[in-house]
Order: sequence, then structure tokens, then C-alpha cells
Amino acid sequence: MKLLQFLALALALTTPLSAQKAPVPTPASILGYDPGADRKLPSWKQITDYFHAVEKASPRVQVHTLGQTTLGRPFLAVFISDSATLKHLDRYQMIQRKLMNPRLRGKDELESLLAAGKNIILITSAIHSTESGGFTTPLVLTDRLARGDTPEARAILANTIVILVPSQNPDGVDIVGDWYRSTLGTKAEGASPPELYHHYVGHDDNRDWYAFTQPETRYTVDSLYTPWDPEIVNDIHQQGSNAGRIFLPPYMDPLDPNIDPILTAGTNSMGMAIGWRMIGEGKTGIAYNAAYDEWSPARQYSLYHRGVRILTETASAALATPIDIPFNSLGAARGYEAKTVTWNFPALWPGGHWSYGDIVAYQVSASWAMLSQAARDRRVWLESYAALGERALAPDHPWTHDSVPAAFVIPRAQRDTQAVQRLVWTLQHGQVEVRSSTTPVSANGTTYPAGSYVVLTSQPMGGYAKSVLERQKYPNLHEYPGGPPIRPYDVTAQTLPLLFGVEIASVAAAPVASAAPIIPMEEPKFSVPGFSDRSARRVAIYRSYSAPMDEGWTRWMFDVNRVPFTSIVDKEVRAGNLNARFDVIILPDQNAGQMTRGVSQNYPDSLQGGLGTAGAAALASFVENGGTLLAFNEASNYAIEALKLPVKNVLAGVRNTDFYAPGSILAVEIKRDSPIAARMTAPVPAVWFENGPAFEITDPARATAVATYPATGDVLLSGWLLGGSKLSGKAALVDVTVGRGHAVLYGFRPQYRGQSMATQPLIWGAISRP
Ligand SMILES: [Zn+2]
Repeated sequence: MKLLQFLALALALTTPLSAQKAPVPTPASILGYDPGADRKLPSWKQITDYFHAVEKASPRVQVHTLGQTTLGRPFLAVFISDSATLKHLDRYQMIQRKLMNPRLRGKDELESLLAAGKNIILITSAIHSTESGGFTTPLVLTDRLARGDTPEARAILANTIVILVPSQNPDGVDIVGDWYRSTLGTKAEGASPPELYHHYVGHDDNRDWYAFTQPETRYTVDSLYTPWDPEIVNDIHQQGSNAGRIFLPPYMDPLDPNIDPILTAGTNSMGMAIGWRMIGEGKTGIAYNAAYDEWSPARQYSLYHRGVRILTETASAALATPIDIPFNSLGAARGYEAKTVTWNFPALWPGGHWSYGDIVAYQVSASWAMLSQAARDRRVWLESYAALGERALAPDHPWTHDSVPAAFVIPRAQRDTQAVQRLVWTLQHGQVEVRSSTTPVSANGTTYPAGSYVVLTSQPMGGYAKSVLERQKYPNLHEYPGGPPIRPYDVTAQTLPLLFGVEIASVAAAPVASAAPIIPMEEPKFSVPGFSDRSARRVAIYRSYSAPMDEGWTRWMFDVNRVPFTSIVDKEVRAGNLNARFDVIILPDQNAGQMTRGVSQNYPDSLQGGLGTAGAAALASFVENGGTLLAFNEASNYAIEALKLPVKNVLAGVRNTDFYAPGSILAVEIKRDSPIAARMTAPVPAVWFENGPAFEITDPARATAVATYPATGDVLLSGWLLGGSKLSGKAALVDVTVGRGHAVLYGFRPQYRGQSMATQPLIWGAISRP
């Protein structure tokens, strides 16, 4: 052997394995184009191929497949850190658990945990699939960390563990991507797909963070939040095109009083730090304290589970197609005006070309600034995180002046045992400790037997438990004194006992004797007696190409209960002869005009038309001939018009200064002898009201009120209601006889987001009536 050959062999034998690996691939080498290129969206396969290829080549990246999505795609989480850290993830997870929960650590252990711990950062991307910059940004961020060799990249790797979810909705990456590619060069290029981008819930996939109805939510909660409870969560979204280029926290008011202000302050501070750096990089159009509030656990799991939440909302293009926005066409958003410099909008964007590449650049810049700050101040973040643990275990939440109940008690023996189990399962899924009382518990004048479920408010996630168990008091916020209400970003209530139909009581201050937390309950199965697995009724659910989420939630409810149904589209309704195929047709919540007209002219001709006059006539004839039509919420207005029903919506045309209820839980009285109500067992009958109608019957011979708002007293149970007297004595649910059939109008959402299980029996009751 010649000397050179010998040296080469010796070198090969002594070189560490990692150095012999192939070079770390770039995103472009897998995609075949530069990430962020105009009119190019990656498929989910390309995205997963990239992460698997990087994992093979880089010791800084580990890919975990957490399960299968709703439509069978792999759901990924990517761990990124120093190779030495990744080899000992179990150790760092244990440190994190001890920092989170003071009960788990020794008396003098805190200092060593603060010294050794890493700042855990969860980045979730692309939960909303038309916000498609989020498909590509995770690849660019990973590339910067996997191949980066700058002091800053090394500091991030040394001080943090980044847990990256490249898409919180992988099915949507392909639903939107396939649609986009199929429409390139047509009039529909850049339009949203004519179907929900999550099979069941569409955009509501980011409203599922306390009900946990969808598998994608559960993967992130079960495999990432529950074991890690990260210090910082970065959720990457997009907003409309015509105002700022990116939103960063602070959020707007209101904020849920159950959130520890350490997290609000941390969120504010980090958001400001990100914008500071981005403006230094020359980026403009950065808006703070705009549009998005800090109210609900539905979309901000982390703020109730020890993590600050850095929502970023970057301006959209037309999917991946660039757009032009002249400066003078920029407009106002909630909290700022995009043509005016203000403290929370300090650098004007000059307008002009806005591309997919711009979106990715803004998103990457924001996430990178966050990672750099998180690495630099690692110890400060860990100290703040540890302080949260002490405060959660204090006997009264130390950040509030309101009285905090010591506990909530849930009696086991209730009429709907499935609902009780679902409530306990749901709480436990959100890391709430549920115990059994060891003695009888007195609350609100009732004594509940020993063995009742007990939820203490002094526990690691006590603020969260309180938020989902108590009744919300949303503040009265107006544009100016006497002016219109300030619209909440989303809805205003989340009281699970009212939504599920479970009796619960709060225990003021007395200590509650209880055993150790019960072990996590297995998920109770959904079932509807007489329907699940053996329904005799032929049910159709109307599916509009405008893709309202309520339609998806309706399908979800049927599927989880194993009740068969058929989806029907406009042209099938218009074709008529519906009695030959169906006994029942459901119109999910949708604007009446949208149902009539259908999708806009941008969509392919085959999807045009809506229900039109032919559809209305077909539905009227279906009911006349013995069919049952169920109309949910706003679709009731459609049914009243189309079928000429003897019912009036008393809220039609009423101004929001006179009546306002943007997503609240309201009390109703139930007509118990109606077959529609026969299955309803909720101890406090309550409906989910969200911009719905309220009814007055104009011909009592033909219509009956099955649920009615109380004639006296407060209608509001949880959330926000202005002008509640408009509802006094009005009907919430009406049963109308039409020919040989029935139209049933729900002035509320009876299966709201898979949560209002208390009112689902009103659907099954209407369907089961012969
Ligand atoms: Zn979004």
C-alpha cells in the first residue's frame, strides 16, 4: 500500500461518522426550485421527503412521525438542536418537567435545572392551508439551522430545542396545493379551493385546542405539549393582503383573566423584540396590538399551559401567485391604519408587488428573530417559566383580585353518563388533574356524595381548568361610549359543562378532601341510541362549494357517531325528486344569499349556480311530500324564504348597537312533550348562539316553538350579550308542518364545533320522528 492510500484509509477510519455523511441537502435540491418561487407550492410528499433527507444527513435534526392524519398522511414533528442535545432528549424533557412542576423537584434542585435546561420552542406552521407560506417557511428555517455555521445559528442550537411541526394540517397542504396546481393559468388561479381544507373542520382546525376533537390536534397536544409544555410557541399564519405586512404581539384586549400575566408580558416582550429586529433588517408594515385578542383557549393552548404564544400573521398573496397593491389602496385594520405611522405601526410599507417569496421571507425573519432572542436570554425564559409553576400551585391565583373557587365538583351519577365521561376525558387531555372526593362535598346548597369528581383550581393547569369550567363574563367593549360593540376576534364563551350538558358546581373556599389524581380515562365512544351502526333514516347533508365549516362539523358528528349519510351538492338538489332518495335533508349553517347564488364567477363553470330557484322549489316539494328539512342557524333564513314558512326572524335588520351576541351560550326553555326534544337531558338547557336568527311564529296552527328564550330574567349564561330583551319569549327552535312533512328551524348551532353535545339530541330527535 502506498503511503497516500494508507493515509486516506486511516483518515476514513478515524473520521467521525457524522463527518462522512453526505452533505445536508438544501430545500431546492429536493423541491427542484428555490423555496418561495412564484407559483410553486410544495406537495406534502416533497415536504416530508425534505425532512427525511435532512435527518439522514444532519445530526442536528430528528424527525418523529406522530401518526396518520384524518385522510391518512403522515403527521410530522421535527426536533432540531445540537447533536449532543438530541442524543439526550429524555434528559432535557425531565429537566423541563421539573421546571414546570415544583412538586417534581428537590428543595435545592432549581439552580442546577436552570443551568442545564434548554429553552423549548414549538413552531407550528400551516394549520390554515390557504396561508400557504407556512408550507415553505419550515424548510427554510430548518435549512438555516441544519447547515448554518454562524455564531447565531450555533447559539440557537446550543440553547434551545426547536420542535417544528411543518404542517399542523398535512391533508390541507395537498387539498390546497393540488387545487392550486390544477387552476394555474385559469380564472380560478389563486382562489381558495371549493372544499374545506381540513376534511371536517376547515379553518376551525385552529379552534380545537380545548375540545381536541381532531387527530391532528391530539398529536400536537399528546406528543408535544403534554410531555414538553414549551416556554415559547410560534404559530405561523397569514392574514388579508390590504393592510400591514405582518402582525406581531402584543394582542388586543380583552385577555382571559385566567392567563397568568407573566405569559402576557413575555408574549408582549418577545413580539416587540421580533419587530425591533425586523425593522432593523429593513422590513416594513409591521403591526402590533392589532386584530387578534387574547381571549380564548380555542386557539391559544400555550397561554393556558405555560407557554407564551407568538402568533405571526403575514399578509397573503393569491396563494403562490403574486399580487400588486398600490399604497393608496392600503386600508385600515383593527387597531391601525396602513397609510399612517402610529406607535403600533411604526414603519410604512410603500405598497407594490407582494409575492410568495415575500411571505416566506417575512415569516422566516420573524421566526429567526424569535429563536435568536430565545437563545440569547435562555436563562431568563427558564426563570420566568419556573415562576409560573409556583404561582399555579398557590391557594388562590395570585394574579387576580376576583375570588377564585377552591374547586369544581362534578357528580358522577348524571342522566348523560357519556357526557360526564367526555368532560373528564377532555379535561385530562388538557393536562388537568381530576380527582375523586373522599368525603361528601357541599357546594351551592347541594351535598354531592363522596367519590364525585373534583377539579382543584390550585394545580399545575388550574387557570386553564377554571377557564373551560366557569361561565365567561366577556367585558362590554365599545368603539366609544354609546357606540357599536367592538367585535371579538372569535367567539366569547367556552363553558364545557353547559356545552356538554353536565351538572357542575363550584366550591367557594372550603378545603375539598380528595385522593390523588385519577389515571387518564380512555376516550369514551360516541354513540346515539337507535342510530349508531343501525340507522334506518336516509339522511342527506347539503354541501355548498363555498365550503362552510358547519357542513364539515355536521359530517364529523355523523361519522364519529357511525351514522350513515349522503353529501349532496347544488345540482343534485336542483334536479329534484329528492323524496325518492332521502327522508331527511340537513342544511348546515350558511348565509342564505350564498346558498342561493353559489360560488363567484372565478370558479369553474361546473361549480356555478348555487341552489337557485330550482333548488328552492325542489326542497319545498321534498317537504310537502313528507320529507323532513333541518336548517341550522343562518340556513333557517334560507328555509323561511324558500319554503314560505309562517315564521319571522325578529333579528333581521337589527343593528349591533341594539342587539349583539357574537358567540355565546344562552338559556332556553324546552317544550318537553315535543318528539324533537325527547332525547334532551341537559340539566341547564342552553344553546350556542352565534349571529343566529330568533323566531316569531306567524301562524300557530302550523308551527310550534320547541325551545324558547325565557320571557323574563337574564338570557345570557356565558359569554357576551347586548340587548338580550330582544330575545325575551322568542323561539329558538321551531317545528313547522308543511304538507305531509316538516321543516325544523334551529336559531343556533346545535352541533357547534363538535362541542355543543347538549343540543345534539335535538338533531337526532328531529331525524328520528317518522
Ligand atoms: Zn390562520
